[in-house]
Amino acid sequence: DTSTETRSFEAEVSQVLHLVTHALYSHKEVFLRELISNASDACDKLRFEAIARPELMGEGGELGIDIRWDQDARTLSISDNGIGMSRDEVIENIGTIARSGTRKFLDALSGDARADSRLIGQFGVGFYSAFVVADKVTLETRRAGAAATEGVRWASDGSSAYTLENIERAARGTTLTLHLKEGEDEFLEPWPLRELVKKYSEHIGFPIRMPRLVEGKPGDELETVNHASALWTQPKSELKDEDYQNFYKTLTHDFNAPLAWTHNRVEGKQSYTLLLYVPEKPPFEAMFSGRDERKGLKLYIRRVFIMDASEQLLPAYLRFVRGVVDSDDLPLNVSREILQENRLVSQIRAACSKRTLDLLDKLAKDEAPRYAGFYQSFGNVLKEGIVEDNDNRERIAGLLRFASTHNSDATQNVSLDDYIGRMQAGQEFIYYLTAESWAAARHSAQIEALAARGIEVLLMSERIDEWMMGYLSEYQGKRFQHAGKGELDLPLDAAEKERREAAEKDAAPLLDKLKQALGERVSAVRLSHRLTESPACLVLEAHDMALHTRRLMAEAGH
Ligand code: ADP
Ligand code: MG
Repeated sequence: DTSTETRSFEAEVSQVLHLVTHALYSHKEVFLRELISNASDACDKLRFEAIARPELMGEGGELGIDIRWDQDARTLSISDNGIGMSRDEVIENIGTIARSGTRKFLDALSGDARADSRLIGQFGVGFYSAFVVADKVTLETRRAGAAATEGVRWASDGSSAYTLENIERAARGTTLTLHLKEGEDEFLEPWPLRELVKKYSEHIGFPIRMPRLVEGKPGDELETVNHASALWTQPKSELKDEDYQNFYKTLTHDFNAPLAWTHNRVEGKQSYTLLLYVPEKPPFEAMFSGRDERKGLKLYIRRVFIMDASEQLLPAYLRFVRGVVDSDDLPLNVSREILQENRLVSQIRAACSKRTLDLLDKLAKDEAPRYAGFYQSFGNVLKEGIVEDNDNRERIAGLLRFASTHNSDATQNVSLDDYIGRMQAGQEFIYYLTAESWAAARHSAQIEALAARGIEVLLMSERIDEWMMGYLSEYQGKRFQHAGKGELDLPLDAAEKERREAAEKDAAPLLDKLKQALGERVSAVRLSHRLTESPACLVLEAHDMALHTRRLMAEAGH
């Protein structure tokens, strides 16, 4: 079909358009980041397709992005010679919400413009951000490998419809032209514009060119304004914090700076570069909670973007990590299946875990308040590692932070090393208690005897804690003991031992009577040494499930 046609956006596209333009209003300039990132993606895609079909690269020259402006026409254009789109692809990619991500985006909107604006981009609604500053957008494109007659022009004012027509287009790739709204003249000022372009493109791996000024107007000659080499390929010594932070924002669409990062070049049997970031906050709760939908670690092979390989390169408990892995040795035609079983990949995977744990260790040691922020966001995710990662269990345990009887409130800031440092002479175990809430744990009769002796108890009340503790039996050679299970095995002096034996003898007839009265409802009635004030308490056998877990299971119908 070669005719000109007018089509309506899907209802949801209109909705997204409306929301995006409003939510982004206070962050207008991000449209430039989104459009440059699309152009860069298009170049990445062509480079990738050209591995199998080198002829695609034949015409059209070196991959790059040109940005031009015209003050008289009030237009700004972004042009790439990347993969381009066919007519069907334009309809599919720009006019519909085929991708499930956008639907989730709609469900996720909170109505709070600040929070909502953080979501944009993570859901692939980036293109529509053009309408924040433009009242008309035209997109002209031609798929790499298609004939010059197969160009397509798409145009819309961002309301409810768009037009499509076939055009002649000499060059492959895409040109996007924004007709700026009244009042958006700042994007037509040569120097501010150039600074903005630099900000969002400094470390994009393709040259970004802008016209050189001739008497204050854009001339014919283009000059490259960015560094044009991917950030991770540069030596650490040449990079500033700001470079890493800006690159992170381009990579993740996060508005916040990252909490920490680690950048390493590994040379040896195999060579690769890792650039890993820990974000400050979960990118977005609903997306993040899903263990199955993991994104954010990009795999490159010799600078060619291959795919998002978060699932292949990071264990689930480190799914908050964002970044880039660039391998020198993997084959370019690597598939997801190969990634699963490749030996080189498993080494890279181990390195990603190790470097991330190193980074967290360092943060915990040097910047405790920042680490506390991390822990608040991701502590419960990290705990999954105790269950999942045998090799690193001890290291992960060292990164955990708990509430404790040592504190007067529920703050989770006690490390196992802190605990061990405060253990009493002769104390054998690390005592902990799991309960439904901090208050329930703190006021539990089960820890009275320990508290009376001044022995610290870790107070755990997160849902995951009981499960996790099933896998954590010791740390630094010290075993864990649930304060509500079995015997407490506190160290006793000779006098105390004698006193207890006498008390047990005295109490034997009473215990028998109680056991008879309670019958099958209890497995034993014992004289307790764990209480100081309460007359009696329920305890579990050493291997029983905790009481509140039983209650949860009962509620769930088990
Ligand atoms: P995302 O980049 O997250 O996929 P966008 O809304 O930014 O979402 O873009 C939507 C889609 O439009 C892209 O996935 C891509 O298929 C297509 N697209 C946008 N810009 C370009 C471009 N410059 N060249 C080729 N395709 C593009
Ligand atoms: Mg995009």
